[in-house]
Amino acid sequence: MAAAVIDGKAFAQGLRGRVADAAARFQAETGRAPGLAVVLVGEDPASSVYVRSKGKACQEAGMTSIEHRLAETTTQAELIALVEALNADPNVDGILVQLPLPKQIDDKAVIAAIDPAKDVDGFHVVNAGRLAVGEDALVPCTPLGCLMLLKDQMGDLSGKDAVVIGRSNIVGKPMAQLLLGESCTVTIAHSRTKDLPAVVRRADIVVAAVGRPEMVKADWIKPGAVVIDVGINRIEAGESKTRLVGDVAYDEAAAIASAITPVPGGVGPMTIAVLLRNTVVAARARLGLGAEAGL
Ligand code: NDP
Repeated sequence: MAAAVIDGKAFAQGLRGRVADAAARFQAETGRAPGLAVVLVGEDPASSVYVRSKGKACQEAGMTSIEHRLAETTTQAELIALVEALNADPNVDGILVQLPLPKQIDDKAVIAAIDPAKDVDGFHVVNAGRLAVGEDALVPCTPLGCLMLLKDQMGDLSGKDAVVIGRSNIVGKPMAQLLLGESCTVTIAHSRTKDLPAVVRRADIVVAAVGRPEMVKADWIKPGAVVIDVGINRIEAGESKTRLVGDVAYDEAAAIASAITPVPGGVGPMTIAVLLRNTVVAARARLGLGAEAGL
């Protein structure tokens, strides 16, 4: 039987609607909209597109978007000075510094300078630590989006065997922590994992966050497993065209899995929706307002 297609685009649209409602309530309560500052250093075309779409999504949700575009030659001290000014700005609830940064700037030093209460990307070690010990944290957007899709599809995840392929700080590690928090039995696989197909075959839940086009094959998947494909890979598609594929060989895996996210239209749209959600959550928490249901 063919797998159910997990429609991340539709789920993200619903979440953005709930965020817009929450932003309107925040405005009514406080007299201002939640504010997200996005900082872009340099002219990287992909980053520029991301920053523009984040700003647009913010405005569509009734939130204030503050964009800072800095020259490629910006120094680390200049960037940290801007981050500190944004930390001190009472109208800024979330700060996102678009990665990657030019080579003269150390990502870690910049992330460490962000006020953890405004760290809507969830990359600050304080938020990573809070997630690890099970305290309230701002959680990286992509893995939190994956968890939302999984819970929507499967309900209670407790006791499920989950395999996360990839151990980056942005996706793999926080994904594993979130699944552990849902009482899954979690395995984190990576480039040194022995017999990866056999490891993946144990899983009720597979999250692939590798960056290798169509690496996960049908015969790696346990029949009935739920597959979340985080990968975004552009491959040649003939006649000098390209197309996007995930880390999972979609067509063949969809014949074995019970549910699967497509690429595009699965995890991708969740990332910005969760960024907006994290900004409203950060705004309410900073002002000591209660949490919103449904976010
Ligand atoms: P990284 O390159 O930081 O991490 C990749 C991980 O995959 C590493 O842990 C690496 O292992 C592991 N890996 C690499 N090759 C293999 C292999 N042959 N077998 C097993 N594991 C392997 O990538 P990210 O986590 O940042 O991103 C992963 C993918 O997700 C990319 O395609 C990226 O484009 C996509 N992505 C999508 C987002 C979205 O919004 N949908 C957001 C963020 C990322 P090791 O640590 O041992 O090197």
